[in-house]
Amino acid sequence: METDSRPISRSAPVMASVSAPDLGMDIGACVAAVPADPCSIVILGASGDLTSRKLMPALFKLYRNGGLPEPVLVVGCGRTQWTDVEFRGRMQAAVRPAGERDLAAWQRFSARLHYRCVNYPEAASIGELARFLRALDSDSTTGGNRIFYLALPPTLYRSAARNLGQAGLGVENRDGNGWTRIVLEKPFGTDLATSRELDRSLHAHFQEHQVFRIDHYLAKETVQNILMFRFANSIFEPLWNRRYIDHVSIRATETLGVEHRAGYYEPSGVLRDMFQNHMMQILSLMAMEPPPRFEAELVRDEKAKLFSALRPFPLDRIEDYLVLGQYTAGMIDGNPLPAYREEQGVDPASLTPTYAMMKVQVDNWRWQGVPFFITSGKRLAQKATEIAIQFKQVPYSMFRHTLGGPISANRLILGIYPDETITLTFQTKNPGATVCLRTVTMDFNYQQNYTGPVLDAYEKALLDCMLGDQMLFWRQDGVERSWAFLTPILDACERCSDRGGRLKFYAAGSEGPAESRRLFKPS
Ligand code: NDP
Repeated sequence: METDSRPISRSAPVMASVSAPDLGMDIGACVAAVPADPCSIVILGASGDLTSRKLMPALFKLYRNGGLPEPVLVVGCGRTQWTDVEFRGRMQAAVRPAGERDLAAWQRFSARLHYRCVNYPEAASIGELARFLRALDSDSTTGGNRIFYLALPPTLYRSAARNLGQAGLGVENRDGNGWTRIVLEKPFGTDLATSRELDRSLHAHFQEHQVFRIDHYLAKETVQNILMFRFANSIFEPLWNRRYIDHVSIRATETLGVEHRAGYYEPSGVLRDMFQNHMMQILSLMAMEPPPRFEAELVRDEKAKLFSALRPFPLDRIEDYLVLGQYTAGMIDGNPLPAYREEQGVDPASLTPTYAMMKVQVDNWRWQGVPFFITSGKRLAQKATEIAIQFKQVPYSMFRHTLGGPISANRLILGIYPDETITLTFQTKNPGATVCLRTVTMDFNYQQNYTGPVLDAYEKALLDCMLGDQMLFWRQDGVERSWAFLTPILDACERCSDRGGRLKFYAAGSEGPAESRRLFKPS
């Protein structure tokens, strides 16, 4: 890594320069994967939003870049009565292949798409699907390997898993089946009890190694990079503890409101939608201990331990640890926006929180006394995801007589969105005759000097599922420990007599409720 030795200022940050030879390894080695086995990908809920916005574009991009196994078949299922031809047309409209090469690739890819009309709660309907899949497999060389992707309303997960199991589609390596995997989108239950019920339904027909609980945040390159950054460098890890770190802030904010998803969001709110899954995963990567090897089970063991170390909130003083908010009317980029309560499908007296800031403490030797401020919300001023590690101030300032004020402490920012960056702030002497300091930054941009393929989160998650790699997926013990932390908080907030009084309002396009500034008191 080289640093620019020219004079620097805030507007001209020091660039961390990266070139392939500096990486000490062949970049190609990072992208060459073992090929996945031929398989069928059965999407239950193929007429829905997730399929057209995320799954199909990801599958097509993987196909176009040679990332899918040969052969691969995609079987879309939904209640909507479509033929194969109609399904292919809808998916083409969603994927929008442009240019001759893309269109030719789409023609080849779309020949692999099939559609079946299925009503999941009905066992007979799934039995019909099972016969279709067996016939399809016998005409191809997929070896009966199948992924069942539940892109369904979560209320259908249990009945879909049960009916798939009862139709004999859960067993592996017999009755015409090869390996079988089932993929679930969050939410994994709505609290600890329901997550356990869901798990019991899944495990009645599928073993844990077959269950892939997806968290697409984990598949983002920069989120994966947290572990590399911490454990592939010797200079950061010695500082990664209560001795040097004052506090950590993890923020994932959106400018979007509830959009058309009020049916899902109203009973969920921000804690179930963002905290139980994405925010907890980022926290675990930031704070977990190093596993002995970079293997799925060992990494997931460390995450589970971290979730067990989260200190329960004192329920009689919850406001010292949590601010919940809901957006009112406001403006973003000059556009007037309605209040949450005025959005389509939302109860005009809704008490659902669209914003939360939490102060979390981790009870172990490494983190004792270091608060983690975790924030997420809708309709905020910016769409951004970042982790900021605020180091402690120097223990003693020899410049105090000359400078007359405290020295700003170092700060490390891991940017996840919109900029995939790592930024370290530090102090330098201001050039000139007088002694004064200024804060400068050393910046690394994740895409800098890298021209290879970049997988988006759903491409990576789908590929890992085809490869049977569970590293980026939730294990049930992690889900339960995360719920065990959150469920008492949810109960205390939702059952309290003054639920409305606890909710703080903020204007759309603002930084969130003013009360979060009160909570954000570093140690
Ligand atoms: P949609 O409501 O858009 O789609 C739901 C799908 O389920 C449709 O294909 C619908 O079929 C099908 N469906 C509903 N009821 C039945 C039934 N009884 N029998 C058969 N099919 C049925 O939901 P999304 O695509 O938005 O979400 C799917 C899942 O993914 C949810 O669990 C959601 O929480 C999760 N998720 C979604 C994200 C997104 O960006 N959309 C992001 C992260 C997670 P039909 O329309 O033909 O009736």
